[in-house]
Amino acid sequence: MMTWITPRTPISIAAAALILVVFSSAVRADADFELWLKQLWLDAQVRGVSQATFNGAMTGLQLDLSLPDLVIPGRTLKEQAEFVKFPADYLPEQQLSELAKAGRRHLLFYKGTLQKIEAEYGVPGNIAIAVWGRETDYGAERQRHNVIRSLATQAYLGRRKDMFRDELLIALKLVQSGTIRMDAMGSWSGAMGQTQFEPSDFEKFAVDGDGDGKIDLSNSIPDALASAAKQLRDYGWKRGKQWGFEVRVPQGINCIEASPDVKRPLADWLDLGLIPASGGAISKDMLDDQASLVLPAGTYGPGFLVLENFQVLRRYNASDLYAIFVGHLADLIAGSPAFERAWTKLPPFSNRDIEETQKLLSNKKYYSDTVDGRLGSVTRRAIGQYQKAINMRIDCWPSRALLEQLQRSDRR
Ligand code: CA
Repeated sequence: MMTWITPRTPISIAAAALILVVFSSAVRADADFELWLKQLWLDAQVRGVSQATFNGAMTGLQLDLSLPDLVIPGRTLKEQAEFVKFPADYLPEQQLSELAKAGRRHLLFYKGTLQKIEAEYGVPGNIAIAVWGRETDYGAERQRHNVIRSLATQAYLGRRKDMFRDELLIALKLVQSGTIRMDAMGSWSGAMGQTQFEPSDFEKFAVDGDGDGKIDLSNSIPDALASAAKQLRDYGWKRGKQWGFEVRVPQGINCIEASPDVKRPLADWLDLGLIPASGGAISKDMLDDQASLVLPAGTYGPGFLVLENFQVLRRYNASDLYAIFVGHLADLIAGSPAFERAWTKLPPFSNRDIEETQKLLSNKKYYSDTVDGRLGSVTRRAIGQYQKAINMRIDCWPSRALLEQLQRSDRR
């Protein structure tokens, strides 16, 4: 769903073309591929895809080997990013402020549409606009990939074959019903339209926002905004509630408290001394709401108390930073100030080093989640708990010193 900001490993066009020619001729002749197509056709038939639609989409289809996330024999997996993307890189103030400026214009322009959307789905206009801004820069992001071709490639060669096979079959149904065109363009993972819907999102959430009797998420902004709002509503968006807000975290609060498992009523957090940063306000009716603390950069940046609607934004894209991006952009559009606290500049840390930190922490039973080289809240918390246990300064952030300490102690 997320397209821009997602780092792509660059590959030269010449190199990509060469691999494509060599590999596609090998694949086309490959009995495995023919067998795969036959099985796909059996499943497509069960789902009601006609022979004409199937052949129209799949005959002569060339796999696109320039896509990320493929597993190709003799080629190492393209990694998403070599270095961990820090919150400061993911939430650049300048870009956010430009998106907010454009967002305010859209908020005004689509005012009538957005009022109807909020009445129907309970999702405020600035949130719907922020999703649109985050997903495609309000439609400015170019859609570079043929959707059917991308999905077929991911379904045959991708790291997540089963998921994409399902998306491909749904896409074929959407082509058949005329909802999308055979030559629809989208992201490398088959996400389409102004708010980057996967085919399965189309099936579940796409609605006709402008009332012309058709659903067009690429060319009708009201259709796209209404569909994004319906998706959030169906994910559990609470009408009239905030996503969360930046807080001032007092010295006495340990970063280990920042975990989705540590939930308290908002009133209890306030009693512990956490107060909204400038621009934040708490109304009485929020005090009983369950909140958790998020410290995306450990002790080196802003902290947030997040509420149930934060988890809803996270379901749109399973990342704390994604949810903070959308929530914060929506606040900026509504006139709130930028974050009060700045992000400290931090030394780079590679995904491989995170992976090793996770492995060593799980040897010591501080970490039991997937060893995936990603720096999420579970990893940050495990680091904090380990730092506490060995009397290191607790910052819930990985470092070379910590990794070396873990390596030494692992050898003992
Ligand atoms: Ca429409």
